[in-house]
Amino acid sequence: MDRQTEFVLRAVEERNVKFIRLWFTDVLGYLKSVAIAPAELEGALVEGIGFDGSAIEGYARIYEADMIAHPDPGTFQLLPWRTQAGTARMFCDISMPDGSPAMADPRHVLKRALKRAADMGFTFYTHPEIEFFLLRTPLQPGVEPIALDTGGYFDHNTMDEGTDFRRDAINILEQMGISVEFSHHEAAPGQHEIDLRYADALAMADNIMTFKVVLKEVAIAQGIRASFMPKPFTDHAGSGMHTHMSLFEGDQNAFYDATDELRMSKIGKHFIAGLLAHAAEITAVTNQWVNSYKRLAWGGEAPSYVCWGRNNRSALVRVPLFKPDKASSARVEYRAMDSACNPYLAYALLLNAGLDGIEKELPLPREAEDDVWSLSEREHAALGIASLPRNLEGAVELMESSELVAETLGEHVFDFFLRNKRAEFDSYRREVTPWELRTLLPKL
Ligand code: GLU
Ligand code: MG
Ligand code: MG
Repeated sequence: MDRQTEFVLRAVEERNVKFIRLWFTDVLGYLKSVAIAPAELEGALVEGIGFDGSAIEGYARIYEADMIAHPDPGTFQLLPWRTQAGTARMFCDISMPDGSPAMADPRHVLKRALKRAADMGFTFYTHPEIEFFLLRTPLQPGVEPIALDTGGYFDHNTMDEGTDFRRDAINILEQMGISVEFSHHEAAPGQHEIDLRYADALAMADNIMTFKVVLKEVAIAQGIRASFMPKPFTDHAGSGMHTHMSLFEGDQNAFYDATDELRMSKIGKHFIAGLLAHAAEITAVTNQWVNSYKRLAWGGEAPSYVCWGRNNRSALVRVPLFKPDKASSARVEYRAMDSACNPYLAYALLLNAGLDGIEKELPLPREAEDDVWSLSEREHAALGIASLPRNLEGAVELMESSELVAETLGEHVFDFFLRNKRAEFDSYRREVTPWELRTLLPKL
């Protein structure tokens, strides 16, 4: 028994934990949980816990349904909102009965990509800016929701109910070892943002899963709803999850070069070039819902075009230069992703896109200096600026012919994802929308 396992067993006893929740994530990014009693814990840590994979979205076909969840003792945390009966959680890695990793496990997909980075000598760090809406309850099915407040960007309003919400949520996140760097009101009514302090990508993907649970729990306790839907309001900006990324070699930031105008090393520039080269084909995963494309179409500092810039907030990739001479903070911001993605899969793809740029030494395209939103299609073409996919169907088509996505996700996840997203788009395109009834019915 290793030291982490011993630590977990001792903590459960000393903290009087009654339920240990084993967490893992399905292919679409929904959190799954099974609670075990303390008496089962040692067995679970040593041998894992069997479950029926066919009941989990994207996991298994009926004839190969048995799977084993192995709790990762390094992710043990008490759930601070379950105060009456002590409850803790651990994230799990999923394996097949023969001990091989389950191909459908998103955590495994990310671990594979991280292994490739490690073989090249890199550790991959990320830090997300997570945007979300606070809404009044009850939500009426099919009706635009009501935002909790009327604040705007960075507003400090003492009457703003969201301020209390953010404080409560951040307290819990910190108690669970998730450090928060900033939080503020965002541009739209009821819209807020919480930025997590950087961590290695696997820990961060776990943190994002935890973040969503914490925010939903705090909201329920306050009689409101927290939503990560990318674009709940037609007339307001949507919620993104801009993610800052860097590669470290040991304790050196591989993206930093003090002699460069952008303070960006060759490795950093190739990484950006790789992101841009693969951006369109990974969008089905970074922006996986029909609704994600409403955000990308609206402007509001969400990107629609494949280009990079330094202070250009219409660009897909940005090189922030807040502290240009601080080596550790050299990084690249990817702005397409939304918080309703599966963070394990999205991070695996972003990493592999960047590594591909490094391996092939792809050249950095010219910087977009203009507001790319204000340029015409012809100007985009002249500047070589491509569009991101305009809807889920277009994104899925690009994904289908992507070797990078197929290799990164593995055949099982790749096939499931394509099938699932085609079905989503088909169900959506059959629906007669309020837009058609409003604009067409009176005229036709
Ligand atoms: N809400 C914007 C988006 O959808 C981002 C605003 C910002 O720059 O933080 O990406
Ligand atoms: Mg923001
Ligand atoms: Mg940002």
